[in-house]
Amino acid sequence: MPRRKKSEKEEKTEATSSKKAKSSTKKKTEKYVDADKLLDEYIDELIVMLGLSYLNLGREEFKEVLREPFAAAVGEVKTKPKLSTIVNRLRAMGDDLMGIIAYKLLKIYDIEKLNNDQLEFIVNYIRNGIVQIVDKLYSECLKRNRNDLIDILRNNWNIYSNGFRSPIRCPRCGFDSVMPDFTCKVCGYSLSMKELKNQIKVIDLLQDYMKIDLEGFNEILKAGFFYYTVEGPIPPSKFKPKQDQMYFEIILNKDEKQKLQSISHNILPGS
Ligand SMILES: [Zn+2]
Repeated sequence: MPRRKKSEKEEKTEATSSKKAKSSTKKKTEKYVDADKLLDEYIDELIVMLGLSYLNLGREEFKEVLREPFAAAVGEVKTKPKLSTIVNRLRAMGDDLMGIIAYKLLKIYDIEKLNNDQLEFIVNYIRNGIVQIVDKLYSECLKRNRNDLIDILRNNWNIYSNGFRSPIRCPRCGFDSVMPDFTCKVCGYSLSMKELKNQIKVIDLLQDYMKIDLEGFNEILKAGFFYYTVEGPIPPSKFKPKQDQMYFEIILNKDEKQKLQSISHNILPGS
């Protein structure tokens, strides 16, 4: 906070008055409340009031995971806020608070060392951090036979993976997480070209495409490949890679080309 410079006179008066204050009653200081000290004072009750006891962390670990949201809830104040005020502010953060705690928990513990309650908490509340950690969480849930948690994780992946949500579903783990190199970001499975084509139903897909863009269809047939995105097939000449868009290069084999050729001849005789 900017403060005007004190005049010499003021400083002298302050100096004398502070001497007096020391000798008599404690003078109210201008200092802000130390959130860390307050956290230490309130922590035990805070854990209970927030319903976090079941996470079974040590006192210091609880302090660690709550430190930042707690300090934000205290704010820059000069009078000590009541515990109930802080708890209300923290509760108002809702799932965002749980997200912060989940994120912090992952910093303290290795995933394999989390107990079941902690793992469940993280799977439920990890939000925007899911992309970085999904493979480890998935394999740990699998190891512990927790299909219920895998379902939750899959659901959160769909909501929070943003640009990483793939138009191709992994046949092994069921997440929409197959990357353009044909490997799954969640379970590591590597799809074959055949598996990927089966999933997008390549013949039907191109047959439908033919009806809306015959020229593009003929180009794909001639080139023998196309790009597949969430918007559908794109012929090579029309393909402009966009940032944040996932695309898959699909190469047609001889059989598929023949099939497509005969379909186009049947539908459009003489072409
Ligand atoms: Zn997978």
